[in-house]
Amino acid sequence: MTEANSLRSLKGVGPRMLERLAKLNIVSLSDLLFHLPLRYQDRSRIRAFGSLRPGEEVLVEGTVDLSEIKFGRRRMLLVQISDASGSILLRFFHFSNQQKQQLAHGVRLRCFAEVRRGPQGLEMVHPEYRLIPDTSEPEGPSETDKTLTPVYPVTEGLHQIGLRKLMTQLIEYLAQDKIQLTELLPPTLLAEKQMPTLKQALLFIHQPPTDTRISDLQDARHPAYQRLIFEELLAHYLSLRQLRYRMQQHVAPVLKAGIHAQHFIDALPFVLTVAQQRVYAEIEKDIQQPRPMQRLVQGDVGSGKTVIAVLAALSAVEQGYQAVIMAPTEILAEQHFHNIEHWMKALDIQVTWLSGKLKAAQRREALAELADGASQIAVGTHALFQNEVCFARLGLVVVDEQHRFGVHQRLALREKGRDGNRYPHQLIMTATPIPRTLSMAAYADLDVSVIDELPPGRKPVETVVLPESRRDEIVQRVHRACQKGKQVYWVCTLIEESEALQCQAAEETAQQLQEALSDIKIALVHGRMKAAEKEAVMQAFKQGGIDLLVATTVIEVGVDVANASLMIIENAERLGLAQLHQLRGRVGRGEQASVCVLMYKKLSQQARERLGVMRETSDGFEIARRDLALRGPGEILGTRQTGLLQFKIADLQRDQLLVEQVARVADRLLENHSSCTEALIERWTGAASRFADV
Ligand code: ADP
Ligand code: MG
Repeated sequence: MTEANSLRSLKGVGPRMLERLAKLNIVSLSDLLFHLPLRYQDRSRIRAFGSLRPGEEVLVEGTVDLSEIKFGRRRMLLVQISDASGSILLRFFHFSNQQKQQLAHGVRLRCFAEVRRGPQGLEMVHPEYRLIPDTSEPEGPSETDKTLTPVYPVTEGLHQIGLRKLMTQLIEYLAQDKIQLTELLPPTLLAEKQMPTLKQALLFIHQPPTDTRISDLQDARHPAYQRLIFEELLAHYLSLRQLRYRMQQHVAPVLKAGIHAQHFIDALPFVLTVAQQRVYAEIEKDIQQPRPMQRLVQGDVGSGKTVIAVLAALSAVEQGYQAVIMAPTEILAEQHFHNIEHWMKALDIQVTWLSGKLKAAQRREALAELADGASQIAVGTHALFQNEVCFARLGLVVVDEQHRFGVHQRLALREKGRDGNRYPHQLIMTATPIPRTLSMAAYADLDVSVIDELPPGRKPVETVVLPESRRDEIVQRVHRACQKGKQVYWVCTLIEESEALQCQAAEETAQQLQEALSDIKIALVHGRMKAAEKEAVMQAFKQGGIDLLVATTVIEVGVDVANASLMIIENAERLGLAQLHQLRGRVGRGEQASVCVLMYKKLSQQARERLGVMRETSDGFEIARRDLALRGPGEILGTRQTGLLQFKIADLQRDQLLVEQVARVADRLLENHSSCTEALIERWTGAASRFADV
């Protein structure tokens, strides 16, 4: 930043002001320029009282008719002012004696506030106000604003008026080209999209002409906003594409399926679905290239992603490389380990289990097997990317249920297998189907495959929504199901933050259910149990030794027990759609018809809609689309992902159409104008440093 671009060149900016601005993340003139209004006010016109509507924020002027202190439940000052067209009431709950005296009969006032409907007609509560001297001075302080008035995010010690003063100076500099503002979008693109230049857009946003519709600005529909949003989405998209481009400059081992994969497929008790075959073929094509694969496989709950992961792993093993499969929870990782170890025995392939809960001796042994290459496949939790873990020849990294991991974790695991310029291939799997626009924005660094078909014979899960008050009835239903030899999940959910409370609730529920249903075999699984205990319970449930499994949301992902056909979810109204869909996906895996009971205590309007969606559809993509509309992108991708999706002004839900345009423009830009991409990324994301440490 040159001296001319420094904040200190603005009048009124000294060390104290610099500190306050820094609190708003403003350290340069360009930061200040991109400090955008939250909303706008119209202080350009004085409105007649007769024209006001409740809810409007308006500037008015009138004469005090009446001023009195009222003693009711709360003491307050009531001031009635009027103009030729009518009158309104000003209401003050806090006021000084001096104020009371100031607001006397006959005094002229100018007020700004929101108009509300009060008991006696329209009123303003605590308006900003100013006394107007009798002699009207046309150029004086009583002049109205020449533009719409922006309202900025502010901080302690720096209020609207102060910030607006700085902005006014800055905008003047900008208008006179006294500060440097580089236009980063090529002129051809601006012309093609009929977008204003960056300078035009910013001038407009900070000082919109008074005839602009405020709602167009606040809903970001105005071209000036669209232009900035376009640029921000583009910068974000380019940063991911660049990440991908850089990765493709590295080399990766050439992997290829062979006899192992053939044996494995032959031994499966089913044939792969067409979708599975297609996705497997896409993966095979990638890993035969000497460049690291970066592929995301999206497949709804139960679509059969695990066999695809195993097939990819076998291609690595076949060529003398190792593969690692990482899952987000102990229960899921363990289940993968058991399945995979069982399958691999037949092929004489060594599988190693690694979790944070291994005993020291087991752990040493596991680490040694991976380091010397004796073990060909590693399965585990995030313990896999801890420092001590080394691989002899890692060729493939599989991250299952990636929405549970952060982007950094997946990149860290890829670093593990790095050998100079050589990287392992990477396969990311997720059952959280996300709408296409969101996926374009969030996973632009990945190629995407979709398993859009469930194995045949799956029956849709019938979903019912019932109030807690019918608990006894539900318990009886569970009883009948168990007596008929069905297996049941009873999921206890509480507010996410407190795992301890959730476990306690599960323990209590298990106890109550056991008392009520003494002839049923009930077991409990929750996050605070030892790994071995959890594993024993899950195995017993899988083998049919347990009728009713009371669980916390630890069973949310991946758990696969085909005979389970009834699930009760407590406090369902507190869970998001994605999580409910995941949980429900634990049933409906076998041949029999399954039922999921969503039990609630209290339904808000939004919760009612959410549970309604669950009842209407079992299509993960449809659920995700509705979820996006109801809750916004941050929630859908999971909080751990949102670091990557923090936008200053763009909103993936609102700006879906722009996302598609951006994707089309970005690749063209990367080819023809790569010089501006770095600057764009830097301007909007500061991404240069963000991925540097992985
Ligand atoms: P997810 O995609 O949710 O990870 P899984 O890989 O756990 O799904 O598969 C769910 C169940 O479906 C498993 O029991 C798996 O063996 C079975 N399965 C996978 N593919 C097929 C198929 N093509 N036909 C029948 N069953 C299959
Ligand atoms: Mg799975």
